[in-house]
Amino acid sequence: MNPVTPQGLVSDTTLDDLPLRDDLRGHTPYGAPQLDVAVRLNTNENSHDVPPQVVDAVVAALAEQVPHLNRYPDREADVLRDALAAFLVAQPASHGVPLTRGNVWAANGSNEVLQQLLQAFGGPGRTAVGFTPSYSMHPIITQTSGTAWVDGKRGDGFSLDPFAVAEQVAAAGDDGADVVFLTSPNNPTGTALPLDVVEAAYGATRGVVIVDEAYAEFARPGTPSALTLLPGRPRLVVTRTMSKAFAFAGTRVGYLAADPAVVDALRLVRLPYHLSSLTQAAATAALGCADQLLETVEDTKAQRDRIVAAMPALGLEALPSDANFVLVGGFDDAPAAWKALLERGVLVRDVGIPGHLRITAGTAAETDAVLAALAEVVVAAELAAHPEDAEEQQ
Ligand SMILES: *Cc1c(COP(=O)(O)O)cnc(C)c1O
Repeated sequence: MNPVTPQGLVSDTTLDDLPLRDDLRGHTPYGAPQLDVAVRLNTNENSHDVPPQVVDAVVAALAEQVPHLNRYPDREADVLRDALAAFLVAQPASHGVPLTRGNVWAANGSNEVLQQLLQAFGGPGRTAVGFTPSYSMHPIITQTSGTAWVDGKRGDGFSLDPFAVAEQVAAAGDDGADVVFLTSPNNPTGTALPLDVVEAAYGATRGVVIVDEAYAEFARPGTPSALTLLPGRPRLVVTRTMSKAFAFAGTRVGYLAADPAVVDALRLVRLPYHLSSLTQAAATAALGCADQLLETVEDTKAQRDRIVAAMPALGLEALPSDANFVLVGGFDDAPAAWKALLERGVLVRDVGIPGHLRITAGTAAETDAVLAALAEVVVAAELAAHPEDAEEQQ
């Protein structure tokens, strides 16, 4: 007799009944909806499939690994770290900063890199500061590591100036923040940070300054990268990911560039063999085809600029963007607009900023769809607010 019921093990137990850590009580998990919708523009993924030649290269690399899956992977991921360092050095925005394997660390998404950084440099009694609105995972990763979170404030138009940043970084924690998060280009606002903000944060604390550059590849020409600030700044960390520009989110590979001592610190907290042989092989093969994989970046930037340009005619405002998404303001009721777009088969992101929605730039067809749906939603909202206009039209 099979004791397993179709509904599985059921019980009335809730989180409140479990001996959960006190500091996790009342928290909600990260929850961007994963809905089966035709046009998914809510998590800043790359909408383009992996190109066929890259698929072939990745499949061949995986096939080589499969017979050896009886063994643990290379704990140091040396081959992948060489490939990541070479990729960074080849970027014009890194201005020839000489990075090698020793400066680079990789993990299952930049989220895991951030988690390892918090495990090593945060923890009970320590404080991290970030500047809201920014990436919602920064406070979650901070708090789950037992680190206190300080919600830093931005100026008008979500701006950050070096003096305000230095002041808030110095005021956080007992002796300045232990960990500082800066996001450039910022999610969800889309704007990149001038380097003097990074320098100001670094100068205001003896803690670690993390610049999350998940969207660096989409930045407009001339946008500086904090990679150029690494020489002489051993507490500065730049994180990157293969989840966005590289169209490789499903693989889960993120990485950082920093002083080799930072990499040594992460070896203390990472789980042994944290990055599977398959992940290492797939990412290394993909980096071997970086030019082909990144071909869609220019397309995506063109779609982003199309979305920005189309907003004024809809009575909406777009923030300038260096990323693969646009923060759009001017909605009377953003949650209602979000729902109305979803009813039209378009999933965007309500990031909780009143009057705003974040729209990922995808393919040209997806831009057509989101612009058409937005036009309908804006007209419907207008008519709901001013029913007399509808009567006039009849
Ligand atoms: C999407 C995103 C990431 C990516 O996380 P991965 O774990 O690498 O997929 C990191 N930082 C920011 C700001 C992001 O928006």
